[in-house]
Amino acid sequence: MEFPQYDIVVIGCGPAGLSAAINTTIRNKKTVVFGGDFCSPKLHRAPHINNYLGFWNITGEELRNKYLHHVQQLGIKVEQQKIDNIFPSGDTFNVVFKGNMVICKAIIIAVGLQNPKFLPGEEELLGKGVSYCATCDGPLYRGKKVALIGFTKEAEEDVNYLADIAEQIVYLPLYEGLGDINKKVRLLKEKPKSLLGKERLQALETEGETLELDGLFIIRDNIPPAQLLQGLELKQNAIVVDRKMATNIPGVFAAGDCTGPPYQLAKAVGEGAVAGLSAAGFLDERN
Ligand SMILES: Cc1cc2nc3c(=O)[nH]c(=O)nc-3n(C[C@H](O)[C@H](O)[C@H](O)COP(=O)(O)OP(=O)(O)OC[C@H]3O[C@@H](n4cnc5c(N)ncnc54)[C@H](O)[C@@H]3O)c2cc1C
Repeated sequence: MEFPQYDIVVIGCGPAGLSAAINTTIRNKKTVVFGGDFCSPKLHRAPHINNYLGFWNITGEELRNKYLHHVQQLGIKVEQQKIDNIFPSGDTFNVVFKGNMVICKAIIIAVGLQNPKFLPGEEELLGKGVSYCATCDGPLYRGKKVALIGFTKEAEEDVNYLADIAEQIVYLPLYEGLGDINKKVRLLKEKPKSLLGKERLQALETEGETLELDGLFIIRDNIPPAQLLQGLELKQNAIVVDRKMATNIPGVFAAGDCTGPPYQLAKAVGEGAVAGLSAAGFLDERN
């Protein structure tokens, strides 16, 4: 199967990601932007912005529309897809989403501030029976007992996919408005409390019972950067970058709120521009 190839993939379509993408595109790098359903919810919610030079008292929504108009003028593709994982592969990266993949030579992470409330035991057992990506890890649980905690309706696609693979599957939906779920799935409308196990996941404790499990999938709205790309250096929940917005992994750059405070537009746009130019320079040097 042939996967689409890009010079640069930008993950996140907020101010930082879009600023990065206009700079990589102007530098003639084949670029695609991946974002959530809406670019960006945070910007949309900002009522009046008075600290962004040249746009006195503009609303977040007005600025959002201006940004989107700008990227459209440059013909930049914004794909409404949440990226699940990035896997380095030699000099390139495989960027994985919902059963699909693209390949690129450099990456800019601009996913905004990510601070999920982890369940007790979750961080320790990640990769030891706990996964954030059904598409990536689902096949490991063929014929086994799994559960999936869905914080968002998007998780329904994952639970239906796992139902075809696992022997037993329990679904804990933590949102309103359940859709069509495979009949094989046992629905459990209880809140998860903690994950049990030392070397490997053994069970999930909910309000009312203890589920013995081989695997647990947790699908949130957002994926913390450390889970997006293994080995990415973080400090106090922020991606560590240098002045070129380069991370500790060659070819991977980051910008915006995900690199730490101040959480402001001007900083996100500025860092996005630097990350875009640095990623383009990285590819030029390599060539
Ligand atoms: C109510 C409110 C008011 C504000 N007012 C101001 C103000 O007046 N002045 C100011 O300077 N700043 C203000 N801010 C802050 C400003 O909005 C942020 O600093 C800015 O949006 C950060 O841009 P960003 O691109 O880093 O992240 P975001 O805007 O958060 O964008 C990140 C994007 O990445 C996407 N994403 C996340 N994970 C993935 C994934 N795995 N795959 C694909 N896409 C993904 C998200 O869907 C999102 O679209 C305000 C924020 C809020 C919430």
